[in-house]
Amino acid sequence: MTAVRQATRPKSPPSSVLERYEPVIGIEVHCQLRTASKMFCSCSTAYDGAPPNTHTCPVCLGLPGALPTINRRAVEHVLTTGLAIEATFPETTRWERKNYFYPDLPKGYQISQYAIPLAAAGRLTFETSEGAISVGITRAHLEEDTAKLIHSTTADGRRVSLIDFNRSGAPLMEIVTEPEVHSAEAARRYAEELQLMLRAIGVSDADMERGQMRVEANVSLRPRGAKEFGTRVEIKNMNSFRSVERAVGHEIERQAAALDAGEPLVQETRGWDDGRGATYRMRVKETSDDYRYFPEPDLPPLHVEAPGLEELRARLPELPSARRARYTSDLVLSAYDAGVIVSDPAMLTAFEAILAVGPQLPPKEVANLVTGDYGRAAKEIDLRTPAGLVGLSEPGELADLLRRILDGKLSRANAKEVLAEHIAKGSSVASIVDARGFRQISDVSALAATVDEVLAANPAAVADYRAGKPQAIRFLVGQVMKATRGQANAAVVQATLRERLDAADPGHA
Ligand SMILES: [Zn+2]
Repeated sequence: MTAVRQATRPKSPPSSVLERYEPVIGIEVHCQLRTASKMFCSCSTAYDGAPPNTHTCPVCLGLPGALPTINRRAVEHVLTTGLAIEATFPETTRWERKNYFYPDLPKGYQISQYAIPLAAAGRLTFETSEGAISVGITRAHLEEDTAKLIHSTTADGRRVSLIDFNRSGAPLMEIVTEPEVHSAEAARRYAEELQLMLRAIGVSDADMERGQMRVEANVSLRPRGAKEFGTRVEIKNMNSFRSVERAVGHEIERQAAALDAGEPLVQETRGWDDGRGATYRMRVKETSDDYRYFPEPDLPPLHVEAPGLEELRARLPELPSARRARYTSDLVLSAYDAGVIVSDPAMLTAFEAILAVGPQLPPKEVANLVTGDYGRAAKEIDLRTPAGLVGLSEPGELADLLRRILDGKLSRANAKEVLAEHIAKGSSVASIVDARGFRQISDVSALAATVDEVLAANPAAVADYRAGKPQAIRFLVGQVMKATRGQANAAVVQATLRERLDAADPGHA
């Protein structure tokens, strides 16, 4: 089962296409690193919502004579990412100028890393509906972001392009995979897992909708069994995980149709139009030769030293993949539960907090509570309060609720009501249970009369059960629960009902 379930999954290319062609997909992600200042100057990166061009200086405006200095934190973030993906590191790396002309690039070049990336040869492992996949990561390197172009129309109707340099020079990490992704779903899952990992290690907020994580995919097809790569097309403008899956799926179909019709494909960059659900041509692709990379003369080479690297390794938190593995092995959670909890920060906080105050509670019960009624309610509230899950409710209260259920003092039906009231009003579990007079009835003799009344009042269900429809017993259990205001122990009720029904049934002699 997949770790992530969606209400409506984008449709996959038809299986007839996938039987004939193998999609070969490489993914490039640019993510903004979480630093206080920009990559090569001391301008603040807290420019979200600020008036345009208020976070600038001669360096990030590209004024002649301005000299860059390296942001140490940004370098550490790429190294930390490299450690998380088990990459290798060069002893020395350097900076290069990537030359191209565009109005959002004041210097006429971007400072980047070309020949020697800060981290290389890593890997990321994640779950898909076809099982776990491990994708090789070619490289992760550092570079600077461009300014932002704003296209608008003036009061007198002229169309103008405005430039906001606040983002110019913000630190960017580029992460490139090997062409080892082979489905639209895997492309989406890779991006989701990468976001989860980047957030867990604290190097980026990686919010796709806010442009902090930009995903591009190189897609080509080759006939099944072929070794050679087909013509690859780069897709941009995918602003959500869902659009990554849709865009790649659409591109696979588009290329298959062209190949089937004998039409040649062009190496090009295509944009994704989410509204139309199709890709469109943006430009015929540049090659790296066009960028005329050359060494950056204003910055010294960067030396990666072992002690510093070990310090970063020691600070690395538990990674999502390791946490999932621990949850399924040590805590015996299902892969599905582990996946859901680890990918949801609110649920994760609650799960860990409840287990911390109730270490003797079965993790499976805690997981059910967190992913079930409580998780759903908390998620809704979490959207409105950044305080998160534990701010909503003391973990001790939830542990108390679970203990009452497990000790047989509170029925699960009643526990649901207690939980709803606790979430809505914040009153303690103990006070709600007392006020409502909830206590679970597990004593068979105390339930016998009610069971008999329900059997007498529902001859149709009794007949159904005896006619070989065992599911009819569920209706009868429900009737007993209703008659006892949810206080009956459902398991005891079911056993008692079954005993009566089977005993009095000549067919079951
Ligand atoms: Zn600056």
